[in-house]
Amino acid sequence: MSNPSSSSSSPPPPSSPPEHVSKADCLFCKIRDGQIPATIVYRDERVLAFKDIGPKAPLHQLVIPLDHIETLAEAAPAHEALLGHMMLTAAQLARDAGHGDKGFRVVMNSGVGAGQTVFHLHLHILAGRSFGWPPG
Ligand code: 5GP
Ligand code: ZN
Repeated sequence: MSNPSSSSSSPPPPSSPPEHVSKADCLFCKIRDGQIPATIVYRDERVLAFKDIGPKAPLHQLVIPLDHIETLAEAAPAHEALLGHMMLTAAQLARDAGHGDKGFRVVMNSGVGAGQTVFHLHLHILAGRSFGWPPG
């Protein structure tokens, strides 16, 4: 007997959580899923932003894609709009925190040699102090 609810063409019920590309044991996937606590400052259907646990400036937030992408080096053309959305989200969060005029820095470390320690792509937003150049 056919079961209408098992039809492959049926949309998921409204209460179903969204599916995201995930990697087991990824710290930031766990923050995304609420398995590890974090101070969330923004979330939409594509990105999540939260306070860095070890702030390197008075404002230090991280913007991550909800989908697990390991590094910027592995990002694909299909991620172009997502990466732009991450940048615009970072700018909005910096403005919201009052740093739009004074200035802020965004940083994305890609790979061990650049200092990446968590392999779920993320954009750092840093503000509230002066910054040297070139970065260390
Ligand atoms: P990366 O070195 O990979 O560019 O940046 C990783 C960042 O994640 C670091 O700034 C680090 O302080 C932050 N971080 C590491 N573990 C946690 C955590 O459990 N919670 C939060 N909120 N940030 C974390
Ligand atoms: Zn992840």
